[in-house]
Amino acid sequence: MFLTQLLPAAAATCSYAALAAPAAAPQLTLTPLADRLTLICGGGGNVVVFNAPEGVLLVDGGSPEQSARVLSAVRALSGQKGVHTLFNTHWHWDQTGSNKTLGAAGTQIIAHENTRLWLSTDADVKWQKRVYPRLPPQARPTKTIYTTDTLAFGGEQIDYGYLPQAHTDGDLFVYFRKANVLVGSDVLSAGRYPIIDYSTGGWIGGLAEATHQLLQLGNEQTQYIPGTGTVLSRTDVQAEREMLVTVQQRLPKLLAQGMSAPDMVAAAPLRDQEAQWGDPTQFITNAWPGLVARARELGVSIV
Ligand SMILES: [Zn+2]
Repeated sequence: MFLTQLLPAAAATCSYAALAAPAAAPQLTLTPLADRLTLICGGGGNVVVFNAPEGVLLVDGGSPEQSARVLSAVRALSGQKGVHTLFNTHWHWDQTGSNKTLGAAGTQIIAHENTRLWLSTDADVKWQKRVYPRLPPQARPTKTIYTTDTLAFGGEQIDYGYLPQAHTDGDLFVYFRKANVLVGSDVLSAGRYPIIDYSTGGWIGGLAEATHQLLQLGNEQTQYIPGTGTVLSRTDVQAEREMLVTVQQRLPKLLAQGMSAPDMVAAAPLRDQEAQWGDPTQFITNAWPGLVARARELGVSIV
């Protein structure tokens, strides 16, 4: 796919940015997705820019550290138009880093209600041993939903809706219907396990269901946009879905044997997945609390 390199001249990559990672060397790459739709990689999380005559619509705003560069790129793309609407696909700072600037400028910020709640409190992410302070009121979402909604903007039909308790408990998909571009954000991850942020409501069963929902929404031609990295195909999303279903089948059996998270890691239940998905240690460790919390519905008795 054609890449337009915006900032320095090193190789264009969309590297994974861990939630708590220090700011990496800034390097933005711009990928045209469709008419007036562009993907910006490298600004923390991915940013999708829809450049409409009546203003700019963004899906996510990058990290706080990269926000200024991201917004500069957006202005360059749009001919200095203001940002009319910003979607927060979830509360993580790699997605909400432009909320302060855009919220102060009067941009409408759309999110799931749980995302607004997490951004309105100090979020204690135990597996990172980090507390994310609340954002100031003007940086919080101004319009929230619980299920689904649609927005007619710039000649597009933009459908958005809830992916329950998957990566977090406030995940939104954003689907540009005419362009057939579907943003799945951090629910989607190619070649590595997706993050389960159990501290704010993510769990393996929700992730499996969310990938199913995204496959149901799209079709063979859909361009799927993950939270970081380049565009994914339907085949990529199907592979992730199959992996998640496999994991969801295997881990409860280990829980039923009374295994702790370290026990599960040591049992190496995903050895046959490692070539494709990498080291599962963090993934299994983060899956465990959600499995314990749902032991009853999984039919597992824990003594
Ligand atoms: Zn995230």
